[in-house]
Order: sequence, then structure tokens, then C-alpha cells
Amino acid sequence: MRKPTLSIIGFGAFGQFMAPHLTPHFQVFAWSRSNYQAEAENLYVNWCSIEEALQKQVIVLSTNISYFETLLKTYCKHINPQATVLDVASVKIKPIDLMLKYLPETCQIIGTHPLFGPQSGKNGIAGLNMVYCPVRVLPHTANCIKSFLADTLQLNVLERTPEQHDREMAYVQGLTHFVARALDKIDALDYPMKTKAYEHLLTVKNMLAGDSWDLFVSIENENPFAEKVRSDFMAKLNELEFELKKKSS
Ligand code: NAP
Repeated sequence: MRKPTLSIIGFGAFGQFMAPHLTPHFQVFAWSRSNYQAEAENLYVNWCSIEEALQKQVIVLSTNISYFETLLKTYCKHINPQATVLDVASVKIKPIDLMLKYLPETCQIIGTHPLFGPQSGKNGIAGLNMVYCPVRVLPHTANCIKSFLADTLQLNVLERTPEQHDREMAYVQGLTHFVARALDKIDALDYPMKTKAYEHLLTVKNMLAGDSWDLFVSIENENPFAEKVRSDFMAKLNELEFELKKKSS
């Protein structure tokens, strides 16, 4: 039996990372703004035009969130009206609103957020968390996709609304990525006398500070709840500093 067709739109760090998990189960195609034909061929992925990519049965949007609106607005006329469209963006309210706004009403829409990436998933993805937001999807398709994620890829699927997702992620990612970037900027080094707690801090820095700047900006600026978490955090840092200075004067 022929495998179903699936396209990855946006073949950057995450698009390339997910390809080997999908090629055993789908005929995978990819398109990106830059030319990644050689990388695609190495991963047994068919490099194609965006018009061709948008004709596949399953379409996975994996571009930076800031490009979502332009992408959907420019190319929605080429989308297979029967396609199931998923995104993998690290925030959920904005891309889902945009998919609902621009995709044909006949397309099924599922928001997802894999809570792992090229670093945290480099030794395998079984057992890792994946957020699943059913937006406009028939029960049969929802069952197939959930079963693929949970049974085939062995992910721990967490069904959430886009708002639940973004509220929690403001802490889980907004705060963590913010701290990781700051640690990177102050040169927190791998000292021989390290404690376990310090080792964890270095792990946070090493896992996250190498993500693309665009991804960092999306996690912080496209999540409507992240700014409040950051400003609460910074206010508490200032309060602690004030307390320390008061005690020592
Ligand atoms: P990213 O910097 O967020 O996105 C890179 C991708 O977006 C590339 O395919 C890039 O295309 C495309 N892109 C960016 N700006 C564009 C523009 N103006 N026009 C056209 N294409 C543009 O890095 P990423 O890590 O690959 O993330 C991709 C998606 O996966 C994002 O939605 C992110 O939130 C999500 N995600 C990432 C991770 C992770 O750990 N990396 C984990 C979970 C989910 P070109 O490379 O062709 O220029």
C-alpha cells in the first residue's frame, strides 16, 4: 500500500529534525524559503515547490511564527481543500487563529506543539510530551493522528486548548528560555567545583541558548502571557537585590 503524502513547509532546524520520524510512515515532501535540497535528499525527503507541497494530504507548517500570516495569505489558493493542516509552533493562539482565518473551510486543522527539539530529542522522542489542540477535525482523522503520535511515535500526547497552552508555556518556555539567554550572556562556565543545582543551570543554558534568535523572539513575543511572567520575574529579582543591599547597609 502506498504511504500517505505529507509535506513539511519550512525546512529549518525543526523541519529537518522531524523528517526522519516521518519518512518511515509517509512519502515526505519539503519546501522552504532557502534551498535545502541536499539536506532533504540526505533525509530521503522529496524537495519540491511550495505549490506542490500544498497539494499533499497532510501539511505540516514548520516556519517561524512571524511568517505564518504572509505564508497563509500568499499561498492559501494553492492548498489542497481536502488537506489536514497541522502546525508545530511554540505558541498556539496566534497560529491557530491565522489558520482558521486563511485556510479553506474544507481543510481540517490541528495545532500541535512538540515539547522537544533537535537538542532534547537527539537521542529519541519516545516518551516526550506533545501538545495537541484539535481545532477543526473529523473524529476519524483525530483518532488517526492521535494514534500516530501516541502509539507509533510513542509520544505523551497532552490535549489542551490554545489558551491553556499559551498560559502554561509563558512559564515553561517563556521563563526558561529567558533565563537561558541571560545565563549565556553572563558566561556561566562549567567550573570543576560545580554542585548538582549549578549543573542543572548549565543544562538549561546549553539546551536552549543555541536555538535560533527568531524562535526565542516568537516564544517571548508571540505568546500573549509571556511578557507578564518576565516582568514579574524581573520585579522579584530587583526586590531580592534591594533586600540584600538593605541588609548589608
Ligand atoms: P525558526 O527560526 O523558528 O524557524 C525557521 C524556519 O522558518 C525556517 O524554515 C525558515 O526558512 C522559516 N522562516 C523564517 N522566517 C521566514 C520568512 N520571513 N519567510 C519564509 N520562511 C521563513 O526555527 P525552527 O526551530 O526550525 O522552528 C520552526 C517551527 O518549529 C517554529 O514554529 C517553532 O516554534 C517550532 N518548534 C521548534 C522547536 C525547536 O526546538 N527548534 C521545538 C518545537 C517547535 P529558511 O530556513 O528556509 O530561511
